[in-house]
Amino acid sequence: MKLIILGSGTFYPEKNRSNPAYLLDIEGETVLLDCGSGTCRQIAKAGRNIWDISRIFFSHLHIDHTNDLIPLLFAYKYYPYDVSNNLKNLFIHGHPEFEKFYHKLLEIYKKWIISNKRQVKIPAIIQNEIILNRYKVQCFKADHTEESLIFKFTDSCNKTFVYSGDTDYCENLVLASRSADLLLIECSSSDENPIRGHMTPKKIQKLIKAAKPSSIIITHIHPEINTKALQASLSETNNYCSIIVADDLAEVEI
Ligand SMILES: [Zn+2]
Ligand SMILES: [Zn+2]
Repeated sequence: MKLIILGSGTFYPEKNRSNPAYLLDIEGETVLLDCGSGTCRQIAKAGRNIWDISRIFFSHLHIDHTNDLIPLLFAYKYYPYDVSNNLKNLFIHGHPEFEKFYHKLLEIYKKWIISNKRQVKIPAIIQNEIILNRYKVQCFKADHTEESLIFKFTDSCNKTFVYSGDTDYCENLVLASRSADLLLIECSSSDENPIRGHMTPKKIQKLIKAAKPSSIIITHIHPEINTKALQASLSETNNYCSIIVADDLAEVEI
């Protein structure tokens, strides 16, 4: 598997951090995790193509995680080049609430986003697990909004990658993250000003102790957080987990 960080920031406009979005290459597929503002541009900056994406997984419906879906579908519809060899379907996975959300968007944007070149399919509702070609995705309810999910990907070599989406510390997060090869964890509030429904550096420390992932990447980074101090303090207090603070366009092999 390979993870590409498209956006490591929050909703807050920042020079070097875009809104949440990640590409995951897994078993010959490219999957997009969340699609915050700026995702289309970040895909291009990463040297990737929007047509390579076969699936999108939405962790939840907040604006900073969904806002570039319409620009993405608009780009598919009016793409100016020959697309006859490209993937025809785009599968979108999320909580059952996503389907209602998508139909509301269609009420406004339908004529600009529905196209034969790229057809959106919303597969059977995710409950706990979906089995795809050569990998599986498990879904855990997060402690954030009603429809928020944590995703755990397991490839054919049994390597595991967990994306927290937005969540507070909770038992499901520990369960999903246990012994993960890579955990992509949000840190969108600080210890000084913790926000309910989000992680903080102290909560991440507690999670590392409880779940013992092999490595973590800290993302969705709140502007108040001093990233150098964060990485140093987390690295100092454990010797079994490698810790990286995400940068936009960084690539990590899993
Ligand atoms: Zn959120
Ligand atoms: Zn968020």
